[in-house]
Amino acid sequence: AKEAGRSTYRVYGPDGRAPSVRLLRLEAELHRALERDELLLHFQPQFDCASDRLVGAEALLRWHREGELVSPAEFIPLAEETGLIVPIGAWVLRCACTRTQAWRRTHGVPLRVAVNISPRQLEAGGLVETVASALQASGLPPEALELELTESALVRDPQAAARTLGELRSLGVSLAIDDFGVGYSSFAYLRELPVHKIKIDRSFMAAVRTAQGDPRLVRALIAIAHSLEMGIVGEGVETPHQLQLLKANGCDIAQGYLLGAPMDETVFARLLEGARQV
Ligand code: C2E
Ligand code: CA
Ligand code: CA
Ligand code: CA
Repeated sequence: AKEAGRSTYRVYGPDGRAPSVRLLRLEAELHRALERDELLLHFQPQFDCASDRLVGAEALLRWHREGELVSPAEFIPLAEETGLIVPIGAWVLRCACTRTQAWRRTHGVPLRVAVNISPRQLEAGGLVETVASALQASGLPPEALELELTESALVRDPQAAARTLGELRSLGVSLAIDDFGVGYSSFAYLRELPVHKIKIDRSFMAAVRTAQGDPRLVRALIAIAHSLEMGIVGEGVETPHQLQLLKANGCDIAQGYLLGAPMDETVFARLLEGARQV
Protein backbone atom coordinates (compact mmCIF):
# COMPACT_ATOMS: atom_id res chain seq x y z
CA ALA A 1 0.00 0.00 0.00
CA LYS A 2 1.39 3.42 0.94
CA GLU A 3 4.50 1.97 2.44
CA ALA A 4 5.13 -0.21 -0.58
CA GLY A 5 4.84 2.78 -2.89
CA ARG A 6 7.72 4.53 -1.23
CA SER A 7 10.01 1.59 -1.01
CA THR A 8 12.28 0.05 -3.60
CA TYR A 9 11.62 -3.51 -2.50
CA ARG A 10 10.32 -5.88 -5.10
CA VAL A 11 9.15 -8.88 -3.21
CA TYR A 12 6.09 -10.30 -4.83
CA GLY A 13 3.93 -13.10 -3.56
CA PRO A 14 4.02 -16.50 -5.25
CA ASP A 15 1.02 -15.40 -7.32
CA GLY A 16 2.85 -12.32 -8.56
CA ARG A 17 0.68 -9.93 -6.58
CA ALA A 18 2.01 -6.93 -4.73
CA PRO A 19 3.80 -7.85 -1.52
CA SER A 20 2.12 -7.60 1.82
CA VAL A 21 3.26 -5.06 4.36
CA ARG A 22 4.40 -7.94 6.53
CA LEU A 23 6.68 -9.28 3.80
CA LEU A 24 8.22 -5.87 3.18
CA ARG A 25 8.86 -5.43 6.86
CA LEU A 26 10.35 -8.91 7.18
CA GLU A 27 12.70 -8.25 4.29
CA ALA A 28 13.95 -5.00 5.80
CA GLU A 29 14.56 -6.72 9.11
CA LEU A 30 16.17 -9.82 7.68
CA HIS A 31 19.07 -7.60 6.68
CA ARG A 32 19.75 -6.96 10.34
CA ALA A 33 18.85 -10.39 11.70
CA LEU A 34 22.39 -11.71 11.32
CA GLU A 35 24.15 -8.85 13.07
CA ARG A 36 21.44 -8.71 15.74
CA ASP A 37 22.03 -12.35 16.57
CA GLU A 38 18.42 -13.27 15.83
CA LEU A 39 19.19 -16.35 13.78
CA LEU A 40 19.57 -19.74 15.36
CA LEU A 41 19.68 -23.38 14.42
CA HIS A 42 17.40 -26.16 15.45
CA PHE A 43 18.54 -29.75 15.07
CA GLN A 44 16.41 -32.68 13.99
CA PRO A 45 17.77 -36.12 14.90
CA GLN A 46 18.49 -38.75 12.26
CA PHE A 47 18.49 -42.43 13.16
CA ASP A 48 20.13 -45.44 11.57
CA CYS A 49 17.29 -47.74 10.50
CA ALA A 50 19.16 -50.97 11.18
CA SER A 51 20.46 -50.16 14.67
CA ASP A 52 18.04 -47.41 15.81
CA ARG A 53 21.10 -45.41 16.77
CA LEU A 54 21.14 -41.62 16.72
CA VAL A 55 23.71 -40.92 14.01
CA GLY A 56 23.26 -37.31 13.09
CA ALA A 57 21.10 -34.24 12.78
CA GLU A 58 19.78 -31.92 10.14
CA ALA A 59 20.43 -28.28 10.98
CA LEU A 60 17.35 -26.14 10.34
CA LEU A 61 17.43 -22.38 10.41
CA ARG A 62 15.13 -20.33 12.63
CA TRP A 63 14.64 -16.60 12.98
CA HIS A 64 13.81 -15.31 16.42
CA ARG A 65 12.13 -12.01 15.69
CA GLU A 66 10.40 -9.90 18.33
CA GLY A 67 9.63 -12.86 20.51
CA GLU A 68 8.23 -14.85 17.61
CA LEU A 69 9.85 -17.72 15.73
CA VAL A 70 9.51 -17.00 12.00
CA SER A 71 9.30 -20.13 9.87
CA PRO A 72 11.93 -20.74 7.19
CA ALA A 73 9.08 -21.30 4.73
CA GLU A 74 8.44 -17.59 5.11
CA PHE A 75 11.91 -16.08 5.23
CA ILE A 76 14.12 -18.43 3.18
CA PRO A 77 12.41 -17.35 -0.07
CA LEU A 78 13.05 -13.72 0.95
CA ALA A 79 16.65 -14.49 1.77
CA GLU A 80 17.07 -16.18 -1.59
CA GLU A 81 15.46 -13.39 -3.54
CA THR A 82 17.64 -10.74 -1.92
CA GLY A 83 20.84 -12.79 -2.02
CA LEU A 84 21.04 -12.61 1.78
CA ILE A 85 21.01 -16.39 1.81
CA VAL A 86 24.68 -16.32 0.83
CA PRO A 87 26.01 -14.68 4.03
CA ILE A 88 23.27 -16.35 6.10
CA GLY A 89 24.16 -19.73 4.60
CA ALA A 90 27.81 -19.20 5.46
CA TRP A 91 26.78 -18.49 9.04
CA VAL A 92 24.65 -21.66 9.10
CA LEU A 93 27.60 -23.75 7.92
CA ARG A 94 29.96 -22.26 10.47
CA CYS A 95 27.47 -22.61 13.32
CA ALA A 96 26.36 -26.18 12.45
CA CYS A 97 29.96 -27.41 12.17
CA THR A 98 31.05 -25.76 15.42
CA ARG A 99 28.06 -27.05 17.40
CA THR A 100 28.39 -30.57 16.04
CA GLN A 101 32.10 -30.78 16.70
CA ALA A 102 31.51 -29.61 20.29
CA TRP A 103 28.95 -32.41 20.77
CA ARG A 104 31.28 -34.98 19.24
CA ARG A 105 33.96 -33.98 21.74
CA THR A 106 31.70 -33.74 24.79
CA HIS A 107 29.77 -36.93 24.16
CA GLY A 108 32.40 -38.95 22.36
CA VAL A 109 30.02 -39.80 19.51
CA PRO A 110 30.68 -39.83 15.75
CA LEU A 111 27.75 -37.48 15.12
CA ARG A 112 27.17 -36.11 11.62
CA VAL A 113 25.40 -32.93 10.59
CA ALA A 114 23.40 -32.17 7.44
CA VAL A 115 23.21 -28.57 6.23
CA ASN A 116 20.82 -27.22 3.60
CA ILE A 117 22.44 -25.37 0.73
CA SER A 118 20.39 -22.97 -1.38
CA PRO A 119 20.78 -22.89 -5.18
CA ARG A 120 21.87 -19.29 -4.75
CA GLN A 121 24.85 -20.34 -2.66
CA LEU A 122 25.89 -22.78 -5.33
CA GLU A 123 25.61 -20.15 -8.04
CA ALA A 124 27.25 -17.34 -6.11
CA GLY A 125 30.70 -18.96 -6.20
CA GLY A 126 32.93 -19.29 -3.19
CA LEU A 127 30.93 -22.15 -1.67
CA VAL A 128 33.90 -24.51 -1.64
CA GLU A 129 35.99 -21.94 0.26
CA THR A 130 33.13 -21.25 2.67
CA VAL A 131 32.75 -24.95 3.44
CA ALA A 132 36.50 -25.46 3.80
CA SER A 133 36.77 -22.56 6.21
CA ALA A 134 33.82 -23.75 8.32
CA LEU A 135 35.49 -27.16 8.62
CA GLN A 136 38.81 -25.63 9.49
CA ALA A 137 37.44 -23.20 12.06
CA SER A 138 35.39 -25.89 13.80
CA GLY A 139 37.74 -28.84 13.53
CA LEU A 140 34.84 -30.98 12.29
CA PRO A 141 36.15 -33.82 10.10
CA PRO A 142 34.82 -33.40 6.54
CA GLU A 143 33.15 -36.82 6.53
CA ALA A 144 30.90 -35.63 9.37
CA LEU A 145 29.43 -32.88 7.20
CA GLU A 146 26.69 -33.55 4.69
CA LEU A 147 25.42 -30.90 2.30
CA GLU A 148 21.79 -31.13 1.17
CA LEU A 149 21.14 -29.75 -2.28
CA THR A 150 17.85 -29.62 -4.13
CA GLU A 151 17.43 -30.82 -7.66
CA SER A 152 16.59 -27.31 -8.83
CA ALA A 153 20.13 -26.24 -7.96
CA LEU A 154 21.57 -29.00 -10.06
CA VAL A 155 19.52 -28.72 -13.23
CA ARG A 156 19.92 -24.99 -13.81
CA ASP A 157 23.54 -25.29 -14.87
CA PRO A 158 24.41 -28.99 -14.61
CA GLN A 159 28.00 -28.59 -15.75
CA ALA A 160 28.85 -25.81 -13.31
CA ALA A 161 27.03 -27.71 -10.57
CA ALA A 162 28.90 -30.93 -11.30
CA ARG A 163 32.21 -29.05 -11.14
CA THR A 164 31.40 -27.49 -7.77
CA LEU A 165 30.10 -30.80 -6.42
CA GLY A 166 33.33 -32.46 -7.53
CA GLU A 167 35.35 -29.88 -5.62
CA LEU A 168 33.18 -30.27 -2.53
CA ARG A 169 33.61 -34.01 -2.75
CA SER A 170 37.35 -33.57 -2.90
CA LEU A 171 37.14 -31.78 0.44
CA GLY A 172 35.76 -35.05 1.78
CA VAL A 173 32.25 -33.82 2.64
CA SER A 174 29.27 -35.89 1.67
CA LEU A 175 26.53 -34.72 -0.68
CA ALA A 176 22.83 -35.46 -0.63
CA ILE A 177 19.95 -34.59 -2.94
CA ASP A 178 17.08 -33.21 -0.89
CA ASP A 179 13.38 -33.64 -1.69
CA PHE A 180 14.18 -36.33 -4.21
CA GLY A 181 11.40 -37.31 -6.54
CA VAL A 182 9.57 -34.01 -6.84
CA GLY A 183 10.11 -31.66 -9.71
CA TYR A 184 12.90 -32.55 -12.05
CA SER A 185 14.07 -36.02 -11.13
CA SER A 186 15.95 -37.18 -14.12
CA PHE A 187 17.49 -40.53 -13.43
CA ALA A 188 20.11 -39.80 -16.07
CA TYR A 189 21.65 -36.99 -14.07
CA LEU A 190 21.52 -39.04 -10.89
CA ARG A 191 24.04 -41.40 -12.37
CA GLU A 192 26.31 -38.58 -13.43
CA LEU A 193 26.28 -36.41 -10.35
CA PRO A 194 28.79 -37.17 -7.66
CA VAL A 195 26.31 -37.44 -4.79
CA HIS A 196 26.36 -39.95 -1.95
CA LYS A 197 22.78 -39.92 -0.78
CA ILE A 198 19.24 -39.08 -1.66
CA LYS A 199 16.47 -37.93 0.66
CA ILE A 200 13.02 -39.22 -0.23
CA ASP A 201 10.65 -36.30 -0.39
CA ARG A 202 8.08 -36.02 2.38
CA SER A 203 5.23 -36.26 -0.10
CA PHE A 204 6.17 -39.89 -0.84
CA MET A 205 6.27 -40.64 2.86
CA ALA A 206 2.90 -38.96 3.36
CA ALA A 207 1.39 -41.40 0.86
CA VAL A 208 2.32 -44.34 3.11
CA ARG A 209 1.17 -43.10 6.50
CA THR A 210 -0.95 -46.20 6.92
CA ALA A 211 -1.07 -49.70 5.52
CA GLN A 212 -3.70 -48.43 3.05
CA GLY A 213 -1.02 -46.45 1.18
CA ASP A 214 0.79 -47.90 -1.82
CA PRO A 215 4.37 -48.69 -0.78
CA ARG A 216 5.73 -49.32 -4.27
CA LEU A 217 7.21 -45.87 -4.94
CA VAL A 218 9.06 -45.72 -1.64
CA ARG A 219 10.37 -49.22 -2.23
CA ALA A 220 11.48 -48.31 -5.75
CA LEU A 221 13.32 -45.19 -4.57
CA ILE A 222 15.22 -47.21 -1.97
CA ALA A 223 16.12 -49.79 -4.61
CA ILE A 224 17.30 -47.11 -7.07
CA ALA A 225 19.51 -45.45 -4.48
CA HIS A 226 21.09 -48.72 -3.51
CA SER A 227 21.61 -49.91 -7.07
CA LEU A 228 23.53 -46.66 -7.67
CA GLU A 229 25.48 -47.33 -4.48
CA MET A 230 23.97 -44.32 -2.76
CA GLY A 231 22.59 -44.05 0.73
CA ILE A 232 18.97 -43.14 1.30
CA VAL A 233 17.18 -41.10 3.96
CA GLY A 234 13.44 -41.21 4.60
CA GLU A 235 12.21 -37.92 5.99
CA GLY A 236 8.80 -36.90 7.28
CA VAL A 237 8.42 -40.14 9.22
CA GLU A 238 5.34 -39.53 11.35
CA THR A 239 3.81 -42.99 11.87
CA PRO A 240 5.10 -46.37 13.04
CA HIS A 241 3.87 -47.79 9.75
CA GLN A 242 6.18 -45.51 7.76
CA LEU A 243 9.16 -46.41 9.91
CA GLN A 244 8.38 -50.10 9.57
CA LEU A 245 8.17 -49.76 5.79
CA LEU A 246 11.56 -48.04 5.63
CA LYS A 247 13.14 -50.66 7.84
CA ALA A 248 11.61 -53.59 5.99
CA ASN A 249 12.98 -52.26 2.71
CA GLY A 250 16.50 -51.55 3.89
CA CYS A 251 16.36 -47.75 4.03
CA ASP A 252 19.50 -46.39 5.70
CA ILE A 253 18.36 -43.39 7.73
CA ALA A 254 15.03 -42.18 9.11
CA GLN A 255 14.03 -38.69 10.20
CA GLY A 256 10.68 -37.26 11.26
CA TYR A 257 8.32 -36.18 14.01
CA LEU A 258 7.82 -39.79 15.13
CA LEU A 259 11.50 -39.97 16.04
CA GLY A 260 12.06 -36.35 17.01
CA ALA A 261 11.03 -32.90 15.80
CA PRO A 262 13.63 -30.19 15.19
CA MET A 263 14.76 -29.00 18.63
CA ASP A 264 17.00 -26.33 20.06
CA GLU A 265 20.55 -27.22 20.94
CA THR A 266 19.90 -27.61 24.66
CA VAL A 267 17.22 -30.22 24.05
CA PHE A 268 19.34 -31.95 21.42
CA ALA A 269 22.22 -32.16 23.89
CA ARG A 270 19.89 -33.86 26.36
CA LEU A 271 18.93 -36.36 23.67
CA LEU A 272 22.63 -37.10 23.10
CA GLU A 273 23.10 -37.58 26.81
CA GLY A 274 20.30 -40.14 26.84
CA ALA A 275 21.49 -41.90 23.69
CA ARG A 276 24.88 -42.58 25.24
CA GLN A 277 23.37 -44.71 27.95
CA VAL A 278 21.62 -47.02 25.51
P1 C2E B 1 13.66 -29.39 4.22
O1 C2E B 1 15.12 -29.25 3.94
O2 C2E B 1 12.89 -30.35 3.40
O3 C2E B 1 13.56 -29.68 5.78
C1 C2E B 1 12.65 -30.56 6.36
C2 C2E B 1 11.44 -29.82 6.87
O4 C2E B 1 10.48 -30.78 7.27
C3 C2E B 1 11.72 -28.97 8.09
O5 C2E B 1 10.88 -27.83 8.02
C4 C2E B 1 11.28 -29.88 9.23
O6 C2E B 1 10.91 -29.20 10.40
C5 C2E B 1 10.09 -30.55 8.60
N1 C2E B 1 9.80 -31.87 9.18
C6 C2E B 1 10.64 -32.67 9.85
N2 C2E B 1 10.04 -33.82 10.21
C7 C2E B 1 8.77 -33.76 9.72
C8 C2E B 1 7.65 -34.65 9.77
O7 C2E B 1 7.70 -35.74 10.31
N3 C2E B 1 6.52 -34.22 9.15
C9 C2E B 1 6.43 -33.00 8.54
N4 C2E B 1 5.27 -32.66 7.96
N5 C2E B 1 7.48 -32.13 8.48
C10 C2E B 1 8.64 -32.51 9.07
P2 C2E B 1 11.44 -26.37 8.36
O8 C2E B 1 12.43 -26.46 9.48
O9 C2E B 1 10.26 -25.48 8.50
O10 C2E B 1 12.25 -26.00 7.05
C11 C2E B 1 11.57 -25.79 5.83
C12 C2E B 1 12.54 -25.67 4.70
O11 C2E B 1 13.32 -24.49 4.81
C13 C2E B 1 13.55 -26.82 4.64
O12 C2E B 1 12.94 -27.94 4.05
C14 C2E B 1 14.62 -26.20 3.78
O13 C2E B 1 14.27 -26.27 2.42
C15 C2E B 1 14.57 -24.74 4.22
N6 C2E B 1 15.66 -24.50 5.18
C16 C2E B 1 15.69 -24.68 6.52
N7 C2E B 1 16.88 -24.34 7.03
C17 C2E B 1 17.64 -23.92 6.00
C18 C2E B 1 18.99 -23.42 5.86
O14 C2E B 1 19.78 -23.33 6.83
N8 C2E B 1 19.41 -23.07 4.60
C19 C2E B 1 18.58 -23.18 3.51
N9 C2E B 1 19.07 -22.82 2.31
N10 C2E B 1 17.33 -23.65 3.59
C20 C2E B 1 16.86 -24.02 4.82
CA1 CA C 1 16.80 -30.60 3.94
CA1 CA D 1 13.62 -32.31 2.44
CA1 CA E 1 12.74 -28.45 0.88
